[in-house]
Amino acid sequence: MERLLTRCALAVRNVPVQDRTCVLCGNYDETSEHIFVACQFAQLIWQNVASWCRIPPIIAFEVKDIITLHEVCSGSAKMKKALHAVTLVTIWSIWKTRNDAVFHQKAPNWVKNLDEIKALAYLWVKNRSKLASLTWEEWSNFKISR
Ligand SMILES: [Zn+2]
Repeated sequence: MERLLTRCALAVRNVPVQDRTCVLCGNYDETSEHIFVACQFAQLIWQNVASWCRIPPIIAFEVKDIITLHEVCSGSAKMKKALHAVTLVTIWSIWKTRNDAVFHQKAPNWVKNLDEIKALAYLWVKNRSKLASLTWEEWSNFKISR
């Protein structure tokens, strides 16, 4: 909904922004759609998430396509819930990387994001769903039982 305070969203709210460019790729204006969907950094992460979760390549045009991804993928209800958790954690992870780059000049590293996404989503899914017996090995191969 463009409520996230990206550089473009700040500029729209009359906050003086010297540079509206995405800090993750340096090529386009920083909007929510760009950071989470169109940015080559995000696309690399989504590609790897799709491959890990054994789903077809993710084709998204807006953030909503990502957030509703679990609804259009085939799989059991548990798998869909786990996939939804993964997509939300991925969005959070991309935003955190953006903030680390903007405020702490940390270079983005998509491999680190992927590790973080797997670890955090595992803890989330294991502790908040009916998948308490899920092992790390099963999770690493995204083997979600029915
Ligand atoms: Zn970008």
